[in-house]
Amino acid sequence: MERFAIAIDGPAGSGKSTAAKETAKRLGMVYVDTGAMYRTVALACMRAGVSVSDEAAALSVLNRIDMRIEPEQGGQRIFLDGKDVTAEIRTPEIGKGASEVAAFRKVRERLVEIQQELARKYPVVMDGRDIGTVVLPDAELKIYLDAGVEERARRRQGELREQGKTEELSEVMEKIRQRDEADKTREHSPLRMANDAILLDSTGMSAEEVVQAILAEAEKLR
Ligand code: C5P
Repeated sequence: MERFAIAIDGPAGSGKSTAAKETAKRLGMVYVDTGAMYRTVALACMRAGVSVSDEAAALSVLNRIDMRIEPEQGGQRIFLDGKDVTAEIRTPEIGKGASEVAAFRKVRERLVEIQQELARKYPVVMDGRDIGTVVLPDAELKIYLDAGVEERARRRQGELREQGKTEELSEVMEKIRQRDEADKTREHSPLRMANDAILLDSTGMSAEEVVQAILAEAEKLR
């Protein structure tokens, strides 16, 4: 049985990580970014020169690597074979690769185990695509965070700009659409809202307003 847990799911760019991180901080809980785990597997495949669409190869890479997650104040650090790759995995290419390896059932099973173990150890705010449906079906609070595709693309464009990269809005939007499609239509653990999740559409909302809305829902459970 996990401790008190908040599950936050939703499509790319819906503001999950910002909201989850901040909510965890204010409630004194541990933030777990599950997307980072799929990204790290994708990075490991790329480094090994293995195609992210080759299931057997991706699985053998996953079996060989040492992936460690360290919760830290206001976030999480992730290590691949002892090296901190937290910043390195935040590229659109690795995001796309993550979406490919995330379609493989066995890859998911391994990562879900790690995620459930973290939830047994700490009170978590966990974000991803299948947290409310598969990873923590008993989470006390489940939020499905959505936003219009254009707004999500603008947010992603802003994040890229912060990394010194410029990309056309139309291009970012197209990539987000493709990733949504891949995540929602895959066979194993597709992105969908859990029946008992609360839908929060963050279009037009500030990050602070989203956090306040989640805190208000958490407050109702006390
Ligand atoms: O959230 P983030 O963009 O880091 O996730 C990268 C990819 O990892 C997603 O597009 C999705 O395919 C996959 N993912 C997943 N299940 C999760 C978290 C992420 O399938 N719980």
